[in-house]
Amino acid sequence: MIRPKSVLSVVLLLSSSAVAARVERLIDTWRPTHYLVNITLDDQLSEITSATVSIYVTILKPTRVIALDFGELTVNRVSINRNEVPFTHQNGKLLFTLPEDAMPGTSLVLGVDYHGKPKDGLILTADKDGKPAAIGDNWPDRVHHWLPVLDHPSAKATITFNITAPARQEVVANGRLDHVETTASGERTWTYSEGVPIPPYCMIVGVGQFAKVEPAQRALTPLSYYVPLSERELAQKGFSPAIPSLEFFTDKVAPYPYEKLALIVGATRFGGMENSSAIVFTSTMFSRNSPAGMSKAFGVPFNNITLIAHEIAHQWFGDSVTESTWSDVWLSEGFATYFAGLFVQRYESEEAFQRYMRNAAASVFEYEKKKRAPIFDRDTESLMELLNANSYQKGAWVLHMLRSNLGDDVFFRGIRAYYESHKNSVASTEDLRAALEKASGKDLRTFFARWVYDSGHPQYELKWYWLGKKELRVVLSQMQPGNAFVDPVHITVMTAKGKRDVVLKPTGKLFIERIPLRDKPVQIDFDPNNRLLDESTVKAG
Ligand SMILES: [Zn+2]
Repeated sequence: MIRPKSVLSVVLLLSSSAVAARVERLIDTWRPTHYLVNITLDDQLSEITSATVSIYVTILKPTRVIALDFGELTVNRVSINRNEVPFTHQNGKLLFTLPEDAMPGTSLVLGVDYHGKPKDGLILTADKDGKPAAIGDNWPDRVHHWLPVLDHPSAKATITFNITAPARQEVVANGRLDHVETTASGERTWTYSEGVPIPPYCMIVGVGQFAKVEPAQRALTPLSYYVPLSERELAQKGFSPAIPSLEFFTDKVAPYPYEKLALIVGATRFGGMENSSAIVFTSTMFSRNSPAGMSKAFGVPFNNITLIAHEIAHQWFGDSVTESTWSDVWLSEGFATYFAGLFVQRYESEEAFQRYMRNAAASVFEYEKKKRAPIFDRDTESLMELLNANSYQKGAWVLHMLRSNLGDDVFFRGIRAYYESHKNSVASTEDLRAALEKASGKDLRTFFARWVYDSGHPQYELKWYWLGKKELRVVLSQMQPGNAFVDPVHITVMTAKGKRDVVLKPTGKLFIERIPLRDKPVQIDFDPNNRLLDESTVKAG
């Protein structure tokens, strides 16, 4: 997703200096494989009048108890294999006690009947035009406020929604629309099925009096825009980067992973939320100011190009290849941030891409002044706090540096192999490293150790001395706290007669190199092609 500015400031206020390892809800004794969700909404979309959810699970270890994550809605009854059983529901957990230990390999169907007004996750509010709407908005672990689930990204499952709502409402959800039926009481029931496993934070429905707009051009997957009725005329142009995004990521990575793509304008606490095949964009996206100017290629605010490309890139990275733990969330956000940048590079301009990456670097440096933590962050307890410049912009820079180091052919071959191995599943940072090592034949452990598992960025100070005997001496110091970065550093030495590119290979925080040189340098350019996420000063000694 793209985080709103307001979350960032709250997050920084909440940052605490106390460090404790985060405890994650991981798959242990059982895993869900499929959810069958039947939800009926009332006339004004103000509550769930009734819901019946069947959770198909596979037992992994002998167990007597299964704990679902489930919020505060009122549970009427629960069942196992359709037989009603006793349950306890407290502190966000719904506990099923099995009649006897279930053995590994056993499949069970857990049933939960409930009703009420969710306090989060399914946002029940008016749309821009004042019409009632119900929109799922789950990141990071808010889906359990309206659906009983195992609420962790790695617990991916397929899902079928049967949503019953007043006949005037349009309903959209993950996956393919199978059918719409009119009930005896005149409402409509919409059935959507998502046939490949998706993370629980991406499981959503959107219900409202949308204008449903089909793009004028053909897309690589069935594409529709769901916008407030008053924005019907804005949708075509406003979402114009969507079709090229689908084409670009298909070309760079792999075919689009889902049955269709819906772009929805409605309630989300983020700028955009990448729900699999049903992305929700903030209700202000067609009316907001454009501090970064207008796109030359699409005639929409530049920030909307990166927003749309970012959320669409997530369909591959985050939704299809999902982070296996929250520490790996950069595999979602860093990828979406970088691939939105690649989209800008392809469709807008090289200059716009360079600016995008420079702004990303500035965000990282600003963030590091407030908090020193690795991208792979096992400690930060608040998941919302993981929406930070490390996960997004520094993650994007890690990919940019890998691309610069490995070259486009090897880098994208590695990315495609990584995607292919983990699509519709989960991946870890180590899985990415392994894929890029296999593609390149290079050992990337040192790079990942310093850039992903450790904190900070290099702050280089280069001093050069012309010794007059056809020799240039350069002294490269690294001023940042913590360990040295041993990445190759490209410099260009300019003399009156021309220029020479030199690659320094520092081995520690102080590194001295003698370079035979015919003429006295007049200037040295540091990292002239912006290959490194660094700050640098160059001084003649
Ligand atoms: Zn994102």
